Amino acid sequence: MAFPNVHTKVIVILGSPLEHSLSPFIHNTAFQHQGLNFVYLAASFPEQRLPEALYGLSALGFAGANVTIPYKQAVLPYMDHLSEPARAIGAVNTIICKNDQIYGDNTDIEGFLSPLQDLELQRMPMVVLGAGGAARAVVYGLLKKYTPNPLTLVARRVRQAEELAADLASFGGKIEICDFASASKSIRDSRLIVNATPLGMYPHVENTPWKQSQDFSSGQIVYDLVYLPNPTRLIQEAGRRGASTIGGLTMLVEQAASAYRQWTERDMPVKVVRKSLVQHLQGIKQNNAPI
Ligand code: NAP
Repeated sequence: MAFPNVHTKVIVILGSPLEHSLSPFIHNTAFQHQGLNFVYLAASFPEQRLPEALYGLSALGFAGANVTIPYKQAVLPYMDHLSEPARAIGAVNTIICKNDQIYGDNTDIEGFLSPLQDLELQRMPMVVLGAGGAARAVVYGLLKKYTPNPLTLVARRVRQAEELAADLASFGGKIEICDFASASKSIRDSRLIVNATPLGMYPHVENTPWKQSQDFSSGQIVYDLVYLPNPTRLIQEAGRRGASTIGGLTMLVEQAASAYRQWTERDMPVKVVRKSLVQHLQGIKQNNAPI
């Protein structure tokens, strides 16, 4: 029987706006490649419809969902079960529907940690630039896995960083906080530097969260969560200074792969997805489309 049919399992991304979400492309590419009878759709709606949308997932027999801005925090009270990471960082990006119950998880942490797994980072000094939603997942993952000494949070609103640190300090390591003007020494002394701000993101590709590229050196790892352009200005400059670099595409695909595994009980064909995604993003840039 051709797909989709009466047996097709439905996954949906909930958020607003969703015009530029890459998740439907990522998951539908993987479903088609593996011949799975799943389809991934997008549902954008105003906040007051959120409870109905969440109850509707189970009522309509959907297999699961992704949640994105601005609902990652707002969905928490509607979950029947929450994974420990989702509870700790206070945000859900993946929902699994099973036996009339909905399970909330956050796969950004696994996605972020994935390209670091073969590196020796225990108790190393680290810097995270930014203190928003993605930084929460990053800081939680680094504290739990590597007990950094210290993890310096660099934020333009120090209050935001203080709140993040207060929420996550119990997960290990030592957190220090500073603003961008005083972060140079921490950057120079750190083994891992993570950009969790949107600075450098297409179309503002001339931007970078750290202009003093002389602070980067060999022996360091510079990890940019921004995935378009690939590479970003930050990644290019850090690479020229001899640092190892990691761009945001791996995290993007790996956080999706973690959700995919939970919905389908299959491993995502990440190499196929990544190759298609690179071509897709290239097309977006060539057409000068907003993202
Ligand atoms: P967010 O919640 O809006 O947080 C952004 C953080 O960056 C905030 O602390 C913000 O400070 C700070 N910031 C923004 N503009 C700044 C500037 N000009 N100077 C200094 N700090 C600035 O966004 P998010 O969800 O954390 O996402 C951050 C970036 O990570 C985005 O580009 C997103 O696409 C990327 N990301 C990538 C992946 C992936 O899979 N690769 C996953 C998640 C996120 P204020 O609050 O003061 O504005």
